[in-house]
Amino acid sequence: VSSGHMGVGELVAFLLYVNYLAAPMSGLFDIAPALQTGLASLERTQEVLDLPTETDRERHKPSQTDGSGLLLQGVRFRYSDREILKGASFHVPRNSYTAIAGPSGAGKSTVFSLLGRFHDPTAGAITLDGCDAHTEHTLGEWRARIGLVEQNSPLMYGTLRDNITYAAPDADESWLRQVVEMAGLAALVKRLPDGLDTAVGEHGSSLSGGEQQRVAIARSLLARPEILLLDEPTSHLDSAHEQLLIETLHRISAECTLVVIAHRLSTIQSADQVVVLNAGQVMASGSYDDVRDYLPTQHATA
Ligand code: ADP
Ligand code: MG
Repeated sequence: VSSGHMGVGELVAFLLYVNYLAAPMSGLFDIAPALQTGLASLERTQEVLDLPTETDRERHKPSQTDGSGLLLQGVRFRYSDREILKGASFHVPRNSYTAIAGPSGAGKSTVFSLLGRFHDPTAGAITLDGCDAHTEHTLGEWRARIGLVEQNSPLMYGTLRDNITYAAPDADESWLRQVVEMAGLAALVKRLPDGLDTAVGEHGSSLSGGEQQRVAIARSLLARPEILLLDEPTSHLDSAHEQLLIETLHRISAECTLVVIAHRLSTIQSADQVVVLNAGQVMASGSYDDVRDYLPTQHATA
């Protein structure tokens, strides 16, 4: 066993991730955006390669789960000399819908990049069902448990089916249909001339922003993540479509644990739990009524 290198599992997970990043952004023949994405990914590769060997960690596979959900304990993180997360702690119960709110720059997306293990905390711990994200999982095992939908998830050329299945091409048809239903895409699929096999146009141009968002959610769900992380999924939706997405979120949280970075009041209000992040620390967490005094002013007064 060679040391200092990614294991095969991590390499495959990483290549899938590069594919996941590069495919939707590049189209089929457009190389420049793919190169840019490639460079950004390369930075991440370097970080992955800089990690210590995983061989010791592989001996500590998660053997049991205690069902306690996701826990962040005193998580700190710095980019070079600036500390972004300053001891953030919160708990996300299994199969709940948690909203993360807070002003721009508070560190919300940074929390997601730590949860996706694109960066490692400089202190503190992240555990899922009592098992440490770093010491008790390989990168591949951890990524298999987490689905991340970033703020912009552009589609690629091809059919709706291609766009939903390319990260999990072997998914069976009945699960695919369930995922389409959960993501709130069933009505769209019914309306389209060729259903799932309808072409979506260049970068999904025949679909609305909300539909594209739900396709990205469906793509993540298809891989059966235990935890689905959505970064500001309602940011470019009107309120009718936001309402649709909120219904989608409730359907999803019956099946998996959902954490949503939200700045719209109704997305925050409909969560089971709200965590308010400010300057890298959790200011408050609990029900909307518990935390309303800590929300950025446009939410607290609405
Ligand atoms: P939020 O999602 O709450 O708006 P972010 O987590 O994106 O906040 O960012 C928190 C802080 O970290 C911001 O001040 C941002 O400028 C900084 N930051 C984000 N990414 C990087 C990076 N790659 N390098 C250095 N600083 C970064
Ligand atoms: Mg953000």
